[in-house]
Amino acid sequence: MNTFDKTEKFVMKTYNRFPIAFTEGRGCWLYDDKGNRYLDMLAGIAVCNLGHCHPAISNAICEQSKKLIHISNYFYIENQAELARLICENSFGDKVFFCNSGAEANEGAIKLARRYGLQKNPEKYEIIAFKGSFHGRTMATISITGQGKYSEGFGPTLEGVKFAEFNNIKSVERTISEKTAGIIIEPVQGEGGIKPADQRFLESLRELANEFDAVLIFDEVQTGIGRTGKLFAYQHFNVEPDVMTLAKALANGVPIGAIVSKGEFATVLKPGLHASTFGGNPLSTKAGIEVMKIVSDKIFLEEVFDKGNYLKAKLEELKLNFPEKIKEIRGKGLMIGAVCKQPCSNI
Ligand code: PLP
Repeated sequence: MNTFDKTEKFVMKTYNRFPIAFTEGRGCWLYDDKGNRYLDMLAGIAVCNLGHCHPAISNAICEQSKKLIHISNYFYIENQAELARLICENSFGDKVFFCNSGAEANEGAIKLARRYGLQKNPEKYEIIAFKGSFHGRTMATISITGQGKYSEGFGPTLEGVKFAEFNNIKSVERTISEKTAGIIIEPVQGEGGIKPADQRFLESLRELANEFDAVLIFDEVQTGIGRTGKLFAYQHFNVEPDVMTLAKALANGVPIGAIVSKGEFATVLKPGLHASTFGGNPLSTKAGIEVMKIVSDKIFLEEVFDKGNYLKAKLEELKLNFPEKIKEIRGKGLMIGAVCKQPCSNI
């Protein structure tokens, strides 16, 4: 049975797939089972920021897999500690919690915000999220995702979630109160259509979070790890969150997620309050260490920025040549989207 037939027969049909089966990847190139070569402009879904099978990462995973793949979090794990150090020393963070995906990181961040709220007042449990956002596919993360199609038919969703308009501070002012425990936002909305936040909007959001003692969470699952030309997108704005979630590119394809937090927020989740069996294992964190060593380099990040400008300029040319097809080009660094006049696919 070929890959297509086997998939249709044995794999749950939760995706509409293109009729292509890739078997190898090298840098930005992918090869299918018929020997065709493709230029990969998706990088997973913003996962393989360093390209496919980067030698430093492949070698590190290979070596680590011969030593120790898994050990529980009842013990100390050197790679986990080292990756946490690299993330903290290159960001606003003081401490990191590791898990396995973006949704899981956001779940943990919501738990952190609610627990922080509870310490202040039992009524302080509301979460403000934004219309057009995407935060994952678990029950809590579909509840905070501001696109109805993801939660339709799965209700009732999480209680106490309010949606405000992205880039509209008045709408947040109308929504926020003493009951707000946390505010979660993507500095550049990804799935929502590559929409960067406005500078003034993020600054005001920070001020409102301070005023109402709410945890400001930046979901950098897609924007983080160099994708926008800064290591983390918040660094474009000079607005620091209290908590930041990471996943996707953090280990260049090995499943990993992380919650980064600072100050008093870093000690809210105490032993027994949150955990993950696989989170922070020696294999995924080894890959993460290699990724962080490469992407935190200033010259590497400048190259991302320059390449992003080049790609944007070329896409702008395409837009000029095909005004009937392309409406707008937007994004930061190499997180770029083209707004097409007609839908491109039904995936
Ligand atoms: N948050 C953002 C901003 C994302 O783009 C995604 C995935 O696309 C997620 C969270 C969910 O991540 P995961 O699919 O690893 O659970």
